[in-house]
Amino acid sequence: MSLRVALALLLSFFLRSATSFTFAPLPTPSTVLRSTSESPDYVKNILWTPSWKSGARDEEFGLITNYNEDLSKVIRRKTRTVECGPIKFGSEHRIVRQTMATTNTADVDATVDQVMRCADKGFDLVRVTVQGRREAKACQEIREKLFKKGYTIPLCADMHFNPTVAQMVAEAVEKIRINPGNFADGRKDFDDHIYETEEDFMRERQYLAEAFIPLVEKCKKLNRAMRIGTNHGSMSSRVLSFYGDTPRGMVESAIEFADICRSQDYHNFVFSMKASNPLVMVQGYRLIAAEQYRLGWDYPLHLGVTEAGDGEDGRMKSAIGIGTLLADGVGDTIRVSLTEDPEFEYEPCNRLAEIAESRLFVNPTSASKQSSVEGYEDTRDIQSFEKRQGDLPTQVETDQIDARGFLHRDGSVIAVVTPEMLKQENVQYLYQELGCKLAVGMPFKDIATVDSLLMRTLPPSSAVAERTHLRRLIEVSTGVIVPAAELEKDPMENTVALMTMTEAIEKGGKLPEGAIRLAIELDGKETAEQLTHLSSLNPVMLLNNPAADTSYLHASRRLFEFLKSHGSNFPVIHHFSSSSIVEKNELALQIGMRCGSLLTDGLGDGVCVELTSDHRFSVDQIRQMSFGLLQGCRMRSTKTEFVSCPSCGRTLFDLQETTARIQEATGHLPGVTVAVMGCIVNGPGEMADADFGYVGTLPGKVDLYLGKEVVRKGIPNEDAVDGLVELIKEHGMWVDKEDEAEPEAMEAMSVAN
Ligand code: SF4
Repeated sequence: MSLRVALALLLSFFLRSATSFTFAPLPTPSTVLRSTSESPDYVKNILWTPSWKSGARDEEFGLITNYNEDLSKVIRRKTRTVECGPIKFGSEHRIVRQTMATTNTADVDATVDQVMRCADKGFDLVRVTVQGRREAKACQEIREKLFKKGYTIPLCADMHFNPTVAQMVAEAVEKIRINPGNFADGRKDFDDHIYETEEDFMRERQYLAEAFIPLVEKCKKLNRAMRIGTNHGSMSSRVLSFYGDTPRGMVESAIEFADICRSQDYHNFVFSMKASNPLVMVQGYRLIAAEQYRLGWDYPLHLGVTEAGDGEDGRMKSAIGIGTLLADGVGDTIRVSLTEDPEFEYEPCNRLAEIAESRLFVNPTSASKQSSVEGYEDTRDIQSFEKRQGDLPTQVETDQIDARGFLHRDGSVIAVVTPEMLKQENVQYLYQELGCKLAVGMPFKDIATVDSLLMRTLPPSSAVAERTHLRRLIEVSTGVIVPAAELEKDPMENTVALMTMTEAIEKGGKLPEGAIRLAIELDGKETAEQLTHLSSLNPVMLLNNPAADTSYLHASRRLFEFLKSHGSNFPVIHHFSSSSIVEKNELALQIGMRCGSLLTDGLGDGVCVELTSDHRFSVDQIRQMSFGLLQGCRMRSTKTEFVSCPSCGRTLFDLQETTARIQEATGHLPGVTVAVMGCIVNGPGEMADADFGYVGTLPGKVDLYLGKEVVRKGIPNEDAVDGLVELIKEHGMWVDKEDEAEPEAMEAMSVAN
């Protein structure tokens, strides 16, 4: 017998001796959603956290001060240890990597196989969905089979709507996830009731306590872990009515459930505040962390962006949300929810955790980077989101071209281009890769065309064709940013000269011949005295690229604080450069983490990705990723936004295949959000702010939604994508896809040029 199997059997024995594994019928909690005067004293005597809304909390605990340990160093937020079978959550332990099974939980063998594959990949915990008694019973078998096969990986049961089944399944698995939005505080039950007064709102708490306490008692007795997992898309109507659709509502809803746990002296729980919008998600987590500081609580946080989607976009969105929080030392366990098989979640999940762990101040290299940033006061307001708006380029009398298009008001993308790409035989492809529309071979800007180019080297003026191609881009308001030294050697008209801060000060901002604007590249080491020169230099943009031996996050925050305190609105482009990234998923994660953690605070006006690694990413790949970053940070919408659930045991259709078909049919509609949800149980609730929804109702049947309202019911799967397109058309949000030019025509145009 292997050591692994022996340990598993031993653990199995202890778990069994702690639990009977019998599923005796449990008393059904009251289903009347009103408190009763007969509530026992232990329910009536819960010590509720004072109201935030009335200001009582501020009075008793003071104002919110901080959401993490230290704003200038990356230190894990101090959290208690929560035990979950053989693993532990909390700041004394590594970040726990977790995922969720997509199999039907009632299919025991398939679920066991999938959990084993996840464990083999490296996951620490797997969640399974539990709809009812059948799945709860299956969990018992799954647990037993896993033990027999030597797998001690803990399981978490995902519960919605069913307190009785939650108690059953607590006997079989190590952790229970409950959703305060629907555990007992069901949306339907409060639909007709407006909660305006504190009294009204608080009266219902008695019922929540009655429904929840039996589960808490059971978890305490069996030493099970719990996640109080709020979801922005599925808050109860009661909370929505009282707090609105806000991160604050998410936090208050979780605190109510935590108060109940604490009243029973049960503390083995973690919180989550998930949302599909990374900005809402980040705010929710910061708020729950901040509230915990002032309340003196220390429960760990499970981080995740819901319905992130698949591929690069899914990874990018998760990196923006999860990465932003980890970058500040907030978060103890993470799940990257992708519309892909759970095994594929491991790589991004593990990488995000690894990167976060490597950036901790305890690591000497990171400590030195963070310490190298000059001190500054961090004045960000974590309780509200405000975008810093950089001033856009304006037109001046002497301009021969329109410089206003060098940047975009919703966020700019700058592409790095080489002289080679401008050669006659390459230029048509370059125009396409930059996202230009073409008319008779001439480039024009379109919705997702880059705004400016960064050229480290210019084609010499003797290369007439290359210069002509570049001029054509400038003529359609594309900024061409070139190092000043390069322009001094061989000038070119209507360009933007790039200088370091030192260079710009030395030259007094004097532009080389032909250049019409100045851009300044910052490495994060500029002194405050140097930065004060910015106002007289008046650059059209700043390229923020902190040096490798300084902390990108902290150096950037210092810059923004400097600009804010000096009333300077120069646009700041995040200049991401790397010489080592060779793989696109890694690039998405790194850009999402590094730039996303600033853009989610409204800090930054665009992105420029410059890679010097041997592996050549195409201009198009980097452009799409850059626009994906801006869209993920809710800045600039250049394509349809998809909110697709990761699928689980409730999913009623092949989610990956259907999502791909929907993306193919509707992926060209900027400003439109389409939700693809696997089931009706949570789907409609979790679609968040989608314009249209595609939701599985029965096997082979789909409902279509307009916002939160179902407008077409029971459509056969095979007709539903067409139905969705029709629905979008009916509501005036459809545009036809533009015909793409035939390759032969492109060639002809290229020759004609
Ligand atoms: S919406 Fe998707 S992930 Fe959520 S419960 Fe339904 S099928 Fe599972």
